[in-house]
Amino acid sequence: MSLIVQKFGGTSVGDPQRIRAVARRVAQAAEAHEVAVVVSAMAGETDALAALARELGGPAPDPRETDALLATGEQKSSALLCLALRQLGRPARSFTGVQMGLRTDAAHTRARIRGIDAERIRAVLQSGAVAVLAGFQGADAEGNITTLGRGGSDTSAVAVACALGADVCEIYTDVDGVFTADPNQVPAARKLDAISYDEMIEVASLGAKVLQIRSVKFAMRYGMPIHVRSAFHGAAGTRVVAEESVMEKLVVSGVTCDRNQAKIRVSGVKDQPGVAAELFGPLAEAEIVVDMIVQNTAHDGSTDMTFTVPQGDCPRALEISQRVGPLLGGSSVESDEGISKVSVVGLGMKDHAGVASRMFRILADEGINIQMIGTSEIKISVVIEEKYTELALRALHAAFMESGF
Ligand code: ADP
Ligand code: ASP
Ligand code: MG
Repeated sequence: MSLIVQKFGGTSVGDPQRIRAVARRVAQAAEAHEVAVVVSAMAGETDALAALARELGGPAPDPRETDALLATGEQKSSALLCLALRQLGRPARSFTGVQMGLRTDAAHTRARIRGIDAERIRAVLQSGAVAVLAGFQGADAEGNITTLGRGGSDTSAVAVACALGADVCEIYTDVDGVFTADPNQVPAARKLDAISYDEMIEVASLGAKVLQIRSVKFAMRYGMPIHVRSAFHGAAGTRVVAEESVMEKLVVSGVTCDRNQAKIRVSGVKDQPGVAAELFGPLAEAEIVVDMIVQNTAHDGSTDMTFTVPQGDCPRALEISQRVGPLLGGSSVESDEGISKVSVVGLGMKDHAGVASRMFRILADEGINIQMIGTSEIKISVVIEEKYTELALRALHAAFMESGF
């Protein structure tokens, strides 16, 4: 008998009626397969819990207690789905992260999975019942409840699928699959039938929250096929698979944006060996992920260093830069949160010249100034003023995706 893992996102389990619809779908799948289900918290629940934590615990509430609180959202939806399944006559058992043996490191609110002791899940499946697992959570070596970062139920699902040796990991969500751009922002976006792991990692890391990036990295490492599809109807969605299995290799397969970025400029630092190391070392020690970096041409032995960080880390990154900058000869440090990163991604860029210049021309024609540029083999990203994000997305989508580039 084949084994499938099905993950349902927040909107899909957003109210009792939707949970009943999910239960019907799961029960149907369980007629022919062994089924393990991973659920997110009901839509809005994690935000509401995080807001409560801040209300009572201040702007940076204690991470251990925050995780204990956040994890309750998924605990509730997994129990509710089991109740709905039982009403349909389908035996089902819910498990929290601790109960399912999902082990993580101790990095509260963004923990990494160390392993899964899947015996209990296996035993339930073998007994003919559906295992309903609370996503987004696990426990560290001391038994403290941890969570995996926002969107982490995707990663729980793929990790469980890998641990159980499932045939596929199905991610049910509120859109029909992975699109050429966020369909909620670019109405002309179209659904892709398939996308490679590499492209999906770029798309996910460049701001598309349809899959948490770690889930795709996990799937790629273990060769687990992911099928992203709608929770509301039965049509096929998008398969996330190895590059060899993607039939249609597009030059550009996606246009994405990330508004959650901030830019920091340290002006007038000395142009000499070691300066970058001394600036970025302390940022790395503070676990701040620096994304794009631009160093200007030096004048009079000094230069400007500009870089981007996630907006939430901007206050800390600014503080570190203000401390370290003057030691490196820096004259001023400024930050700007009114920026966004817009990117185009595609496997075909590997052997297709001219994508970057075309992208810059399209933005120029719209009067959008490019502040920073970053590239990899299969993506080009630019930093622009945030207010132009939607205009840039639509213009790039129209040029690359709608006019047969
Ligand atoms: P879930 O609650 O099911 O995990 P999420 O809200 O995390 O759902 O992710 C689904 C959302 O991802 C969609 O509603 C859509 O707005 C957004 N999204 C962003 N980029 C894309 C894309 N390229 N394709 C599909 N959805 C995208
Ligand atoms: N409920 C968590 C969140 O909102 C995890 C998830 O939905 O994947 O981020
Ligand atoms: Mg999600």
